[in-house]
Amino acid sequence: MKDELIVYKPVIGISTNLLKITEKPFLNLERNYVNRGYVDWVVEAGGVPILLPLLSDTAILDSLLAMVDGLVITGGQDVYPSHYKELPHPLLGGTAPERDACELHLLRSAYNDHKPIFGICRGMQLLNVAFGGSLYQDLSLHKSQTSINHSQDADPDAASHSVALTPGSKLQEILGKNSISTNSFHHQAVKELAPGFAISAKSPDDVIESIERINPDSSWLLGVQWHPEAMPLSDPETTKLFNAFITEASQYRRRR
Ligand code: MN
Repeated sequence: MKDELIVYKPVIGISTNLLKITEKPFLNLERNYVNRGYVDWVVEAGGVPILLPLLSDTAILDSLLAMVDGLVITGGQDVYPSHYKELPHPLLGGTAPERDACELHLLRSAYNDHKPIFGICRGMQLLNVAFGGSLYQDLSLHKSQTSINHSQDADPDAASHSVALTPGSKLQEILGKNSISTNSFHHQAVKELAPGFAISAKSPDDVIESIERINPDSSWLLGVQWHPEAMPLSDPETTKLFNAFITEASQYRRRR
């Protein structure tokens, strides 16, 4: 699979986060960063990663996007609830309005250009919100009483709960099985699914763990609630997931 991609190695934009330094000597300075696993997995699957800085200038964001064949929206803070017409609930976690604006622009712009988009954790939630869906601001508000710890204590590279894959979904086709085990680091979840999307995985306590675009005219849009990028590079399911995304991006590059 990697060999086939050599000619058309796709460039993958990875959205980033801001970190405020809380210690001297760089007290209060901000850093643009992303967890390394996103970069390593894009390389492992045959892509060329570029980190997209958190910017408010949409013209610059579009110039950056013009270089990429696929977009990864990464994990992080809670999406600000005004984006799905709710007021902040007391259990809402930390938010990043500047990041919401930046990533919503990246997402919509990449979508308009028919580029494949892979949303991870917050990235999946943002995908749902961008297309008109909503979120539970905390899992304690979920319509089913959730019975699984979705904020695992185990290390990030350890799977902690199973997810059932929807038969016939893009995700099930990619993974070639009916269920997998995933890690879990989220206190929010999809509430109303965005129009044009389908549920591609659910946990045993009825939490939506993956969504995908079903509109046949649309590009490849897939979101997962877990953190595949935290899995070791030998993980077979994560390999299939990133390979599928990079293959889509590679095909996009060929069509350019
Ligand atoms: Mn979970």
